[in-house]
Amino acid sequence: MTEDLKKLTSGCSCGKKHSLSTSDIVVGVGATQKLIDYIKERYDAASALIVCDANTEKYARPIADALGCRTFTHVADARANEIETARLTSYIKSNSLSVSVAVACGSGCIHDITRYCAYENGFPFISYPTAASVDGFVSGVAAMTMHGQKLTYPSASPDALFADDDVYSKAPPRLTASGVGDIIGKFTALFDWEIAHLIIGEHLCPEIALLIRRAIDGVYSAASEAGGANSKDFPRRVIDCLILSGLAMQLMGNSRPASGAEHHMAHFWEMHVANPPTDALHGEKVGLATILVLKRLEALRKSHLPRVDIDVARVFNKNKVYSVYGELTDGIIKENLPGGQNEYTSSVLYNIRPDCLIKNEERVMGLLAGLPSSGEITRVLKGCGAPTTLGEIDLPQGDSFKQISAIYSPYVRNRLTLMKILSANIVMHGDV
Ligand SMILES: [Zn+2]
Ligand SMILES: [Zn+2]
Repeated sequence: MTEDLKKLTSGCSCGKKHSLSTSDIVVGVGATQKLIDYIKERYDAASALIVCDANTEKYARPIADALGCRTFTHVADARANEIETARLTSYIKSNSLSVSVAVACGSGCIHDITRYCAYENGFPFISYPTAASVDGFVSGVAAMTMHGQKLTYPSASPDALFADDDVYSKAPPRLTASGVGDIIGKFTALFDWEIAHLIIGEHLCPEIALLIRRAIDGVYSAASEAGGANSKDFPRRVIDCLILSGLAMQLMGNSRPASGAEHHMAHFWEMHVANPPTDALHGEKVGLATILVLKRLEALRKSHLPRVDIDVARVFNKNKVYSVYGELTDGIIKENLPGGQNEYTSSVLYNIRPDCLIKNEERVMGLLAGLPSSGEITRVLKGCGAPTTLGEIDLPQGDSFKQISAIYSPYVRNRLTLMKILSANIVMHGDV
């Protein structure tokens, strides 16, 4: 799979140099044995560490037995936060382990915990996904919730990925449906990247955007064809697209190609500042957030684009941010104004001109017209058994929660999205 991507590392039409450090991708029957052979050939097998959770320990043990190495088991459904990373790091330190390579044996959170610790402690890791649930397996960033705030950290990409058909295909269908949600979110992620390119000239790599488009098309057709999510090869088709999306992020060096307004909304819900905690999976939240973002964008298609008038100082007024984010306020302001509280030029909103949308009306409308409808996305997600209403994932269902989510989720990240422009406009003027 990486062959056609490797050529992007030697020269890309966008003029930037991309790098790819994941050299081997093995997906199929027998991938577990290939993983064992790979580690024996390249690393000190006895010093490997298989990181899993209570759900995936059954897959970790045979690998550890074959290598003669240790496993570290997190609690079931462990979150990627400062508590779990500290547990893993202190296990390594208290046992004076010199880890030759770690294997992330699990789904998204186990990968983020492992990749974060591998990066912090300076050892490589290998991805061994046990479900087709998220696209972060091969990315180079770790999505962590540190002290309550959802943050993306620069981190290590895996040296290789091994996905065994007999493992990830047997995961509960809910996990695969979550993977579909994560890919469905790329519709709005890609849209936001194009908007940022258009409005503030943010660099956009057309080759990487094409990889994301391929991932979207792959999942979309797999979910729409006869048999859909019930067909035997569905998990395989989903995991291929998830890996492609993760490689696109790795090539770009950040999550921009795969994360826009929909991810910000999902991350907002994960911070629990305006809602009770929910057990929903990452991709479930992303899929649902995509529907809500599309509904907002659909409304724009029917009207004229608004004139925006943004005063960054007022958008990031501490009292205003505190009213929603509470004790996370300082972290949110730091994220949006990385140059410091009064360094407004460090906000991506700083260069937004009042006529930025109207001046580019034809192209913005063209991008909006290229998005699928919220109804169509609802149909696809429903067909896979994924949640499509807030109530299904135990979030408040009223319009006021949808409004708070739309206005305040763009504060999660200093990254330009159309929702971020609209949100700032609402904060300034009360309405678009
Ligand atoms: Zn490029
Ligand atoms: Zn995601």
